[in-house]
Amino acid sequence: MKLSVIKYLVIFSVLSISAHERNDGEGHATYLGNEAVMIVSGEQKIIFDPFFHNSFGQYTLVPEAIREKLFNNTAPYDDIDLVLITHAHEDHFDAKDMIQFLLANTASQLIAPSQAIEQMRAHKGFSKIESRIQGISLNDKVKIKKLSIAEMEIDAYRIPHSGWPERHSEVEHIVYRTALNDDAVVMHLGDSSTEVILFQPHFSSFKQKSSHLAFVPFWFELVPSILTKHLNAKKSIGIHVPTVVPDYVKQGNFDYFSKPEESRAIH
Ligand SMILES: [Zn+2]
Repeated sequence: MKLSVIKYLVIFSVLSISAHERNDGEGHATYLGNEAVMIVSGEQKIIFDPFFHNSFGQYTLVPEAIREKLFNNTAPYDDIDLVLITHAHEDHFDAKDMIQFLLANTASQLIAPSQAIEQMRAHKGFSKIESRIQGISLNDKVKIKKLSIAEMEIDAYRIPHSGWPERHSEVEHIVYRTALNDDAVVMHLGDSSTEVILFQPHFSSFKQKSSHLAFVPFWFELVPSILTKHLNAKKSIGIHVPTVVPDYVKQGNFDYFSKPEESRAIH
């Protein structure tokens, strides 16, 4: 076969695979590092906690090659409709990167805790992207906020950070349930505490809509009753797993992400 024909066939098959992936309506989740996950469903694409620099010596950083694709709007990390931030800890969030991304990707929007937005305000370029940002402030009185952005339904829940109440109680920490195309409903629990009492105010909301997939810090998988009884999620994937996967995680009876670019079907 002529080289040009082979080239054509290769290009054609690559194009048809990516077209199929984008339109199959079933959706998939791709792991980027620590708690960073990209969800694709039909034409919609979102990313949780993608930009950060501190591994605390043990967590997986997002590889530079993926970061470059995000900043340069290059497939498969292109056309991101929405970025969601759970909290402004250094292994989840970097204000400068977030601004750089929004400046380069002018159709992308951001939902983040107000604390994260305040960090961004100090950086150059903030005024240019401000109109595409939704800051969320939840507290003991207002524990849930419903948003509709880029034809997605988003529920933001106040559930304090792991360590509550002794540690990190000052951190604005948000759990998200996001419905894409009415077809892929995913939860992201950030660094949630596992105290059931903190989930209690949201039980009725969780009950109203089941999630296909919940991304949970791996310590949640050790207390599965919370998942099965209350989150109303059909399956879960552990995240925030150390780069050197502990034996008790490897031997546990649950799925987890540990290598960037690993992928799972939503359904
Ligand atoms: Zn944290």
